[in-house]
Amino acid sequence: MAHKWVYMFEEGDAEMRNLLGGKGANLAEMTRIGIPVPPGFTATTEACIAYQKDGGFPDGMWDQVVASMQKLNEQTGKTFGDANNPLLVSVRSGARVSMPGMMDTILNLGLTPAGVETMGAKFGDMRFAWDSYRRLIQMFGKVVLGAPAEPFEEIIDDIRKEEGVKTDAEVSAAGWKECARRFKELVENHTGQPFPEDPYDQLRLGTEAVFKSWNGKRAVDYRNNFGIPHDWGTAVNVVTMVYGNFADGKSGTGVAFTRNPSTGEKKFYGEYLLNAQGEDVVSGARTPTEVSKLVEEIPSAWHELQEIADKLEQHYREMQDIEFTIEAGKLWMLQTRSGKRTAASVVKIATDMVDEGLISQTEAVARVQASDIDQLLHPRFDLEVLAKTPVLAHGLNASPGAAVGKVYFDADTAEQKTKEEGEDVILVRPLTEPDDVHGMLAAKGILTQEGGATSHAAVVARQLGKPCVSGCGEININLKERKFTVGDVVVKEGDVISLNGAKGDVYLGTIPVVVPEFEEQTELQKILSWADETRRMMVWANADDPQQATRARSYGAQGIGLCRTEHMFLGERTQLFQNYILADDDAAKAAALAKMLPEQRDDFHGIFKAMDGLPVIIRLIDPPLHEFLPSREELMVDVAVAKVKGEDAGVKEKLLAKANELQEYNPMLGLRGVRLGVMMPDVNKMQVRAIFEAACDAAKEGVDVHVEVMIPLIGHVNELKFLQKLLLDEAKAVMDEKNATVSYKFGTMIEIPRAALTADEVAELAEFFSFGTNDLTQMTYGLSRDDAERHFLLQYVEQGILPVNPFQTIDRDGVGLLMKMAVEKGRATRPGLEIGICGEHGGDPNSIEFCHTLGLNYVSCSPFRVPIARLSAAHAVLREKGWPRIGDLGALDPDRKN
Ligand code: ADP
Ligand code: MG
Ligand code: MG
Repeated sequence: MAHKWVYMFEEGDAEMRNLLGGKGANLAEMTRIGIPVPPGFTATTEACIAYQKDGGFPDGMWDQVVASMQKLNEQTGKTFGDANNPLLVSVRSGARVSMPGMMDTILNLGLTPAGVETMGAKFGDMRFAWDSYRRLIQMFGKVVLGAPAEPFEEIIDDIRKEEGVKTDAEVSAAGWKECARRFKELVENHTGQPFPEDPYDQLRLGTEAVFKSWNGKRAVDYRNNFGIPHDWGTAVNVVTMVYGNFADGKSGTGVAFTRNPSTGEKKFYGEYLLNAQGEDVVSGARTPTEVSKLVEEIPSAWHELQEIADKLEQHYREMQDIEFTIEAGKLWMLQTRSGKRTAASVVKIATDMVDEGLISQTEAVARVQASDIDQLLHPRFDLEVLAKTPVLAHGLNASPGAAVGKVYFDADTAEQKTKEEGEDVILVRPLTEPDDVHGMLAAKGILTQEGGATSHAAVVARQLGKPCVSGCGEININLKERKFTVGDVVVKEGDVISLNGAKGDVYLGTIPVVVPEFEEQTELQKILSWADETRRMMVWANADDPQQATRARSYGAQGIGLCRTEHMFLGERTQLFQNYILADDDAAKAAALAKMLPEQRDDFHGIFKAMDGLPVIIRLIDPPLHEFLPSREELMVDVAVAKVKGEDAGVKEKLLAKANELQEYNPMLGLRGVRLGVMMPDVNKMQVRAIFEAACDAAKEGVDVHVEVMIPLIGHVNELKFLQKLLLDEAKAVMDEKNATVSYKFGTMIEIPRAALTADEVAELAEFFSFGTNDLTQMTYGLSRDDAERHFLLQYVEQGILPVNPFQTIDRDGVGLLMKMAVEKGRATRPGLEIGICGEHGGDPNSIEFCHTLGLNYVSCSPFRVPIARLSAAHAVLREKGWPRIGDLGALDPDRKN
């Protein structure tokens, strides 16, 4: 038997989504469960892929299309291509996931000049019939035969002028007939061939055009951008036409959601138009009616629609987005799919559906995406102020988030104003280019006049997590005069604007930003508590002080994975530390450290109290010493000025000498981390003393302390051998002095490849590992992040040389391999070794999933990302159990059949 390329709707079902595409599978499913769908059939995605390979329809496909058309003739009692009783169809593309760039739907295919007469008689409206026909030629000409759009519009203009009317609605039947004639001429001039009058030719060309659109530039770009495989293909749906454009008061067309897609409220939501077809409702040409009015206008259709909505929700167990048409009182469903919705409605619908018994708690967890949480918790504009503020201009919502800042028109100024004057800056450019990246890095937000959702500005902004509105054609930038205009409004350099990246809106002036309260998000809390029951990995947070620790805890952190201590040497204490650095002898050094000890002890004490009962990992001082001195340039100027004035440069001169001494060519690879500990152990010893004094004091107050001391940047186990013993002795000494014991561990960061490679040796001493994946990525790739992001890394990603920015998502093949090795070797030496990650990757969903597969005990991330990490750690478990990745991919639960 020949391969089956074409399926009648009654032969398919929702499970066949990959083969029939989303639209086709759902039309088949609705047909199967007895929902009224106009008869039709689907040519498969496989046929599309075969078409791409062979450059033509695969063997047998066209015969099957023709046979299916004959079945449609039988089912409808009409005949495709017949002048007296024509069967008309729509040709609709439909891939596995809906995506831009696919061919637009063609309506009324099969209509011929002779058919127009029949149709006009049927509708009692010749004007409408000729209008439909000219639309077919226009659509077919543009979409299938590639004729440019404007000349069609020019012809319509001419016709209107000739008839002396203003709008299309006033054009007469004769006008549209003449229009159709000229359209045909136009198409024929474009293609050099007669317009295909034969309906089967139209069907063949239309089908081919859908297949071809799969490899159109927009579609390919989109797939590249969103990681959709190119070998999925698109299906072609051929659907009997139904008409909502009778003027009988009982016909219309509409779109609706089974629940409110912006709030999630369980209330049918949508719009319709009487006497309308296809895209009329969404095109904005007429103002549609709120859907509940249908109960008055066509009650029977309204009631049936409600029943169908319920049936669909029960069946799909998901909020549906539907298209319907009512022809002379008879309701037809033309599409259903799970509805897109806001983050707020994602969590509302998921928790409601659990309450309604439609889905399990686990499925609710699976339905929420990290980006939803981001939206719910991210700082956003004050909605009240927003509602009262007029939108200045609207562009593409290229990268979400709220940004407020002063307008600057070039990257250098943006960078300079940020760095030197501490201003919040919005970079406004006609377009951005690789040369502008430093300005984008500095800016709070980016606004461009040109460029789409995959333009440089959009791609880079998303990578950087910065709000961006791109392609905002309403603004007119004048680079010379350093201003942009929107109509009469002039925005000059230095004026403040606000950007709403999620919507693509630009506002004049400052809109206050609010940080949503986590505590108030009860639905999200529910989802996260279910996620907690699902996940295996713990979620810890990076927090440097008691406030951050408290916040992290309120977000659900189960420990602190990284408490950095550098800030304990900064601010007012810089002086103390400089005294240490400048000290000439041991006594002076000891004196300087003695002054720092009580301050650090207080810091630690506060953190232990905030984290009562939970582990706290404290990292000993890490950065190179010069970071604690004024810059050399500054000191040189000061010293020179003092000399000229004949003053005593004093301590500045000493500092300069020290700064010169400490200067390094590659500070990132120089005297920092454990190396500081080895070269000047007294600083680390002071820190350990402060930690253990605080821990013992807190323990005496009844706080349950679990302290973990982390030594950074080791490359060789001998570094640990040297330092850890010293520090351990100090810790024991303190506990003896205080006559107290606390639970403690000494461990290390794995952030130099050699430490990962020799993790078995390292684990002989280290009682825990924590991956510092920022440094590990820098050292594995041999690049410094700041230099790389500024000069080439983002271009690498844009050009596809690297799939992602490895500082955002762990490079599993390289860096990840080292991590895997470290886990295996470390636990071979020390079974059950506690291992976590404290780099920024700890808050990235993809990296979190990877950490789960490596068997890490926890991920540690910034407090704000703790909720996302809780969810992502649960998703990692679900993925392991075979749940598909979330998205518009239909049913989620792998054990469930529709
Ligand atoms: P899209 O994927 O852009 O939504 P569709 O294929 O759903 O494109 O069709 C565009 C419009 O045409 C929709 O409003 C749809 O309901 C309408 N439409 C499609 N096929 C038919 C048909 N056979 N009869 C009436 N309207 C149709
Ligand atoms: Mg479309
Ligand atoms: Mg549609």
